[in-house]
Amino acid sequence: MNLLMHDRSQPPVAPLRLRLSREALIHNWRWLHGQSFGAACGAAIKADGYGHGAVAVAEILAGAGCRDFFVATWAEALKVAPVMGGCSLSVLHGVRAADLAVARALGARPVLNSVAQVMLWKAAGGGACDVMIDTGMNRLGLSMDDVAAGALDGLDIDTAMSHLASADVDSAQNDAQLQRFIEIKSRVAAQRYSLANSAGICLGRDYCFDLTRPGLALYGGVPRKEAEGHIRQVAFPEAEVLQVRNVRAGGHVGYNATWTATQDCRVATINLGYADGYLRGFSGRGGALFAGHRLPVIGRVSMDLVTLLIPDGYVIAAGDLVSIDYDLPTASAESGLSQYELLTGLGQRYERVWV
Ligand SMILES: *Cc1c(COP(=O)(O)O)cnc(C)c1O
Repeated sequence: MNLLMHDRSQPPVAPLRLRLSREALIHNWRWLHGQSFGAACGAAIKADGYGHGAVAVAEILAGAGCRDFFVATWAEALKVAPVMGGCSLSVLHGVRAADLAVARALGARPVLNSVAQVMLWKAAGGGACDVMIDTGMNRLGLSMDDVAAGALDGLDIDTAMSHLASADVDSAQNDAQLQRFIEIKSRVAAQRYSLANSAGICLGRDYCFDLTRPGLALYGGVPRKEAEGHIRQVAFPEAEVLQVRNVRAGGHVGYNATWTATQDCRVATINLGYADGYLRGFSGRGGALFAGHRLPVIGRVSMDLVTLLIPDGYVIAAGDLVSIDYDLPTASAESGLSQYELLTGLGQRYERVWV
């Protein structure tokens, strides 16, 4: 190609894409809302909307009726603020002195997590905020003792929340946290109370209170068996075949020759690797789909490349786009990564295309 002729304003066609289903995202939110027993259903869009693109996710879900969004940091809040419209935006990590100016400017609410954050917020003039109260996870949040000592007195609390540590499994900790949250509700004056993440919604009516905060299940993750068959896959990674080659019986494939051909065969090398979040746990275990056939991953996943075994007599060529098997529960079992890691690891080289 004559480089001088290249229009530099046109980015090159990406050799890997993330096909994102608007319909599946909306379907999942509606199902979670339906399971929330009359509570409002929000959306956790931290970590760039679990890798999907927080701005696009917020726009789509706001269009479907979602009114409450959660990010982790003020940098994330700044990115999504332009599409928030009249929606409520909460910043889960609360507020530091360095965040006060942007917090005031955006009108998003900090989720105050400690006595120090409460004091900082009050000293800065207060205003509507959310609070996180720890009920047993010991990660973030004021303690029940802080609350009993009056740490929240005089605050203008929109949403009082806590977070479940073990909602994805049947654990006595769930009920213990629920009982503590009920006690909090009787002591802390707030407009709304919120406890459940995706898995918490599956625990039923008692856990839903006024507002639920799903993340994972919006994006196709199945947090518990109650959600099986109801949640649809949203993100479909696709990668181009770079090269198809013949491998003789006895030939090896990839770093450290971990795969050896038992007969003459063909392999396809695709434009995807662990730098794109397709981590080495998929080595010899993952797969890709092309025209209804599954092509297993053979050998090690490299930084930018993965090799697939082509079934006998099968037609596939350089430039063809294969779909990576990324059904989250299956991919999680194959790779040893959590469904969360599979989503938030999706890298920046993908062209994200909503369909
Ligand atoms: C991330 C997060 C959520 C969403 O959790 P999922 O398990 O992804 O549904 C809800 N609440 C808080 C406080 C969170 O940090």
